[in-house]
Amino acid sequence: MNKLILNPGREKSLKRRHPWVFSGAVSRISGTPASGETLEVHSSDGEFLALAAYSPQSQILARVWDWRRRDIDAAFFRERIAAALALRARLLPDCPAMRLLHAESDGLPGVVADRYGDVVVLQLSSAGAMYWRETIADALFELARPATIFERSDSDVLTREGLKPVTGLLRGFPPPAPLIVDESGLKFEVDVDGGHKTGFYLDQRANRSAVRALAANCEVLDCFCYTGGFSVSALAGGAATVTAMDSSGPALELLKRNVAHNELAQPECLEGDVFQMLRKLRDQARKFDLIVLDPPKFAPTVAHAEKASRAYKDINLLAFKLLRPGGLLFTFSCSGGVSRELFQKIVAGAALDAGVDAQIVGHMSPGADHPVALAFPEGDYLKGLTCRVAIAQACA
Ligand code: SAH
Repeated sequence: MNKLILNPGREKSLKRRHPWVFSGAVSRISGTPASGETLEVHSSDGEFLALAAYSPQSQILARVWDWRRRDIDAAFFRERIAAALALRARLLPDCPAMRLLHAESDGLPGVVADRYGDVVVLQLSSAGAMYWRETIADALFELARPATIFERSDSDVLTREGLKPVTGLLRGFPPPAPLIVDESGLKFEVDVDGGHKTGFYLDQRANRSAVRALAANCEVLDCFCYTGGFSVSALAGGAATVTAMDSSGPALELLKRNVAHNELAQPECLEGDVFQMLRKLRDQARKFDLIVLDPPKFAPTVAHAEKASRAYKDINLLAFKLLRPGGLLFTFSCSGGVSRELFQKIVAGAALDAGVDAQIVGHMSPGADHPVALAFPEGDYLKGLTCRVAIAQACA
């Protein structure tokens, strides 16, 4: 078998079971492995460390499939997929819309699958995942038993691996149009073909329910609303008004349809840049009781953390200024390059500069369908804080 040999001393992260081999750690590769093929990873003194998939064009030159010597074959993928499905069956029974396969954290680097009722959307993003594409699709089709597997292998990560995007029907029947799924008793239309990621942000399910539970009689501002996950939840929770903001016209159109699917009153929709629109609302002296800030990934890696920190601080500062005393802020970062600790510091700095006292009343994460392997802290990408602005400001 082809071998990848590490530079001296570079086996430490693999011994801690972190599944990525960076190109800088590699001394040489013996043989001529094809893109995506399985390699044995060895330390400089010849110790076997792992079996990994070769990504010749990526900074992450190999991603670990297993830590033991075994066959990486159809049985391997069936085993991993069955284990991931068993976790969901135990922790999220009867949940029609959820993530079935969460890449590294389910022992399947580069493999994401989301279930929307009878439709499963598969997103492959590494050379190794693409190499095993048919095998993965067969195993998932057989074990999860959906009517459809639709492929959305078109993420940035995939193109960085030097691979061509692939989208379209992969197994079963074409997805129904429109595809409407149930989340916590609410109906959402999901655009699996053209939407972000696999069509919907399943990682916010529990946090949308938290907003719904606290929105009664509130004037709500939903920033970066996409197709209205938080807006619809707030309206269903009895919000007095909802203002929804996003730069994407098509996302706002889908938001309006989602509000209609649930027979709720249409919110105020503002299309444009949230950074500018928050300033405008501040200048108009608008006030809200509950604000959601769920921006896109400002810092994909630690290298972008500083610039991202300024952007997070800016929107959080403006949000604090727009909240009434006693108001609630649900603020998120889905940046892998911003840790929970750093995010909390940024939000604290924003409150300070906005001149408000606030408390953290909740820490948020995705649900159990987005597990985080303990050896893979990068899996903990979505972090959120619920903050409450003090009713009476403390004396200076
Ligand atoms: N809260 C949503 C997911 C948000 S995804 C949910 O629960 O489903 C991030 C959204 O931010 C996308 O819809 C994208 O169109 C929007 N966006 C990105 N940059 C923006 C900007 N500068 N101003 C306004 N919207 C922006």
